[in-house]
Amino acid sequence: MKRESVTLLGAGLAGSLLAIYLARRGYEVDVYEKRPDMRAVDIPAGRSINLALANRGIRALREVGLYRQVTELLTPMRGRMLHDVDGDLQFQAYGKSDDEVIYSISRGDLNELLLNTAQYQYGVRFHFNQGVIAADLAQGKVRMRDDDDLRQYVLSDTPFIAADGAGSIVRRQMSKLPGYQSREDYLPHAYKELTIPAAGDGTHQIDANSLHIWPRGDFMLIALPNMDGSFTVTLFLQREGSPGFSELASDDAISAFLQQWFPDAVALMPDAVQQFQANPTGSMVTVYAQPWRVGGRFLLIGDAAHSIVPFHGQGMNAAFEDCYELDQVLSENKIAGVRGWERVFAEFEQRRKPNADAIAAMALENYVEMRDTVRDPRFQAKKQLSWELEKRFEGRFVPRYSLVMFHHVPYAEAQRRGVIQQEILEELLGPDNDPATIDFDKADRLIAARL
Ligand SMILES: Cc1cc2nc3c(=O)[nH]c(=O)nc-3n(C[C@H](O)[C@H](O)[C@H](O)COP(=O)(O)OP(=O)(O)OC[C@H]3O[C@@H](n4cnc5c(N)ncnc54)[C@H](O)[C@@H]3O)c2cc1C
Repeated sequence: MKRESVTLLGAGLAGSLLAIYLARRGYEVDVYEKRPDMRAVDIPAGRSINLALANRGIRALREVGLYRQVTELLTPMRGRMLHDVDGDLQFQAYGKSDDEVIYSISRGDLNELLLNTAQYQYGVRFHFNQGVIAADLAQGKVRMRDDDDLRQYVLSDTPFIAADGAGSIVRRQMSKLPGYQSREDYLPHAYKELTIPAAGDGTHQIDANSLHIWPRGDFMLIALPNMDGSFTVTLFLQREGSPGFSELASDDAISAFLQQWFPDAVALMPDAVQQFQANPTGSMVTVYAQPWRVGGRFLLIGDAAHSIVPFHGQGMNAAFEDCYELDQVLSENKIAGVRGWERVFAEFEQRRKPNADAIAAMALENYVEMRDTVRDPRFQAKKQLSWELEKRFEGRFVPRYSLVMFHHVPYAEAQRRGVIQQEILEELLGPDNDPATIDFDKADRLIAARL
């Protein structure tokens, strides 16, 4: 009997992991990807060179048996290392214990592992250099272009699952249907990646187990470790205004800006100005779309459905959680033809949409936290108090950051609890930010009453 087939559009992080999940369930999976095969051609892996992987992404990888191989690609980051303008350092742990850490991972290495597993272990067929150019949503057809010979052709093997990223052509086309909405909110800030090379002996020049941040109020620099001893550094800065990317056009202006705000980082990057001039400036967008599906024929997943800004390090984690959740929905439903897929897609969207909206909002909030609030003594006192409450009232009070990064509670629930917890922290912490004056009986009562 012919196996039921599913066609995926996009072989990025979500598309290649979902291919594994679906093939594991017995579907025949074809994946069409616009770019060349990253395993054969040296192309940039996409947007950021490395990413923070946390619990949600790890669970999704573990579920398909990949965690052991992924472990070999990970560098743990135990907390934030803040760099002030004078080069003084302050470490802020991410969690209350040593196992509450996040991990830096190379996007290219992870994507290659997923592609290899899908292709060689599960027989998924990948078609590279094949880009979607249009979709006939009513008819369940997709127009493609072969970028090798510019030939156009039509695919009609539904269902299609579009994992074609933040600029999804399928989503943009869906948004023209009556009753469909899609909004792309671009941040006025952009980003640029630079590299701190490894030391001469191949080791890291700054602490390898931290996510480094140079918070400067309206802008910031961050650095995540790579396994080869280097760091990928990202400057987040508004496009217009002062300081802004638009005024950093000449070597002198770039050098003066970096030297003024990030002298200790620049000291580790002798070619920072050349890198700045050579590397592209990227945009950041939050995508709000609804619905994510057309009957049982099309579904959006990952960034195509809900791209978020990168400040919670959750875009990929959320995309991986999508794959995990879609698999759960499939396991609970007996699929039969288009009607079956329609039920599955509807159930998936119903579960994920409120959570996608919640992490989108929390990621935007986290930008202000990373570039600015982390320096505020009240923020630091509340963080300390959160951990104290978590220790004393285990399971009853868990800081929102931990709920998002180290737990699996739905994002919307983390957001809801986070708001209440902030109110409790405000009430408990006096104006002098002194943790010694905390009334823990009152804390117990507030937690019992509100959470
Ligand atoms: C600067 C930055 C830093 C980030 N840091 C983190 C982090 O630390 N942690 C984290 O969890 N997330 C992070 N993210 C978010 C993360 O990159 C995305 O959420 C993740 O890549 C989503 O995976 P995806 O497969 O949905 O989309 P993508 O990875 O964008 O993959 C989409 C794929 O579709 C292909 N495609 C596009 N158009 C077409 C077409 N027309 N036809 C066929 N194929 C097409 C693309 O070539 C690509 O391969 C960051 C993002 C940015 C921009």
